[in-house]
Amino acid sequence: MFSAVRPRLTAVAAKSALVNAVRPRFFSQAVVARSAHIASLHTLTEDEQLLRDSVARFAQDVILPKVKEMDETETIDKTVLKGLFEQGLMGIETSSKYNGSESSFMSAILTIEELAKVDPSISVVCDVQNTLVNTLFNKYATEDIKDRFLPRLATDTVGCFCLSEAGSGSDAFALQTRAVKDGDDYILNGSKMWITNSGEAEIFLVFANVAPEKGYKGITCFVVDKSMGVKVMKKESKLGIRASSTCTLNFDDVRVPAANILGEVGKGYKYAIEILNEGRIGIAAQMLGLAQGAFDATLPYLFQRKQFGTAIGSFQGMQHQYAQIAVDIEAARLLTYNAARLKEQGKPFIKEAAMAKLYASQVAERSASRCVEWAGGIGFTRDFPAEKFYRDCKIGAIYEGTSNIQLQTIAKILEKQYSS
Ligand SMILES: Cc1cc2nc3c(=O)[nH]c(=O)nc-3n(C[C@H](O)[C@H](O)[C@H](O)COP(=O)(O)OP(=O)(O)OC[C@H]3O[C@@H](n4cnc5c(N)ncnc54)[C@H](O)[C@@H]3O)c2cc1C
Repeated sequence: MFSAVRPRLTAVAAKSALVNAVRPRFFSQAVVARSAHIASLHTLTEDEQLLRDSVARFAQDVILPKVKEMDETETIDKTVLKGLFEQGLMGIETSSKYNGSESSFMSAILTIEELAKVDPSISVVCDVQNTLVNTLFNKYATEDIKDRFLPRLATDTVGCFCLSEAGSGSDAFALQTRAVKDGDDYILNGSKMWITNSGEAEIFLVFANVAPEKGYKGITCFVVDKSMGVKVMKKESKLGIRASSTCTLNFDDVRVPAANILGEVGKGYKYAIEILNEGRIGIAAQMLGLAQGAFDATLPYLFQRKQFGTAIGSFQGMQHQYAQIAVDIEAARLLTYNAARLKEQGKPFIKEAAMAKLYASQVAERSASRCVEWAGGIGFTRDFPAEKFYRDCKIGAIYEGTSNIQLQTIAKILEKQYSS
């Protein structure tokens, strides 16, 4: 008996000796100890947690009571907008030197997500101000321009990002707005379309071509104050995110000092690409928050509503569906946070940002659509929050690059990786 067991023990010992021999090279204790310190993507700094909790409270206390009215009247409530500024949410990454909150990109992403859980319209107001407008100033503006505009943007003034035109959406650099030099000024002529926040904005970042013969290399970014003669024209009546203004803008002989050029002449195309690459992580966060917000607003109903004597959430057919959506939301969150952390750490993030935006917008649509169905007839009414989330989700596949454009971005990077 003893001798029969012994050979096995010997074999186990031999295997363990082999493992130990290999261990120092591939699985040293040092490596194990180091990897134990690699944080999960859910790990937030203390500041990020505090900010997320305070934004969640602000959203519940100040925004939630106004959501329905803002959607119906297609306007932002003034107290909500004021509150965003007072809470420091309109200048999240801006230095305290310019009255900003001097916080991180991840903090902006968490803010956008939390706001979207309650109202994706308010979320995009904050998203555009932070990830597009403020970032353009923070990254490329001279000290003089920063001094003149960043304190206003962090304190009480809404800004907007004016790239798209009637004839140039996905093909953004086909834009027709022109800027012609006249002494120390430029004269702007043209029209912009679909501009978020333009109903409330006082500061307009306008992309115009100063040298059409150079093609996209003539595109230049101008900081235009509304008082210079910006005409806010038609306000779109939209399917979703109705409280967020989306207007057409006209520039008829608008005189802008050359001192208001943001960055370098002819580099506007580069700035727009770089800003939109980052901005997409913001839209991913908006869509993630939307997916979670719809889910959170609907799940309790599944355990209150009974049919056939049973809570509808206890039927296996329903359980499998909401479990699947929970998995989808978690996957969208990991993609979004990963892209944000990569960007923060200065690592390549363009593919990951496009993936996050594409996927989060798909998940938002699935989650909101399921939530409408799970609530049955009541889910189809304006009295139940899922209906608004369902209308709001469609925009995620359109702005800051449509889903096809995200796929194209991902495919281009893959092609380069696999064809070289
Ligand atoms: C509510 C809202 C807010 C917006 N906010 C802003 C803003 O603040 N600032 C701003 O500058 N713009 C803004 N936009 C504009 C937005 O970015 C554009 O609508 C978007 O880029 C798509 O452009 P388009 O509408 O011209 O569609 P198009 O470019 O005409 O696209 C139509 C369809 O064709 C597909 N398509 C186009 N080209 C290709 C291709 N090469 N390969 C495959 N498919 C393709 C698209 O995927 C899409 O399905 C906003 C739009 C909306 C609706």
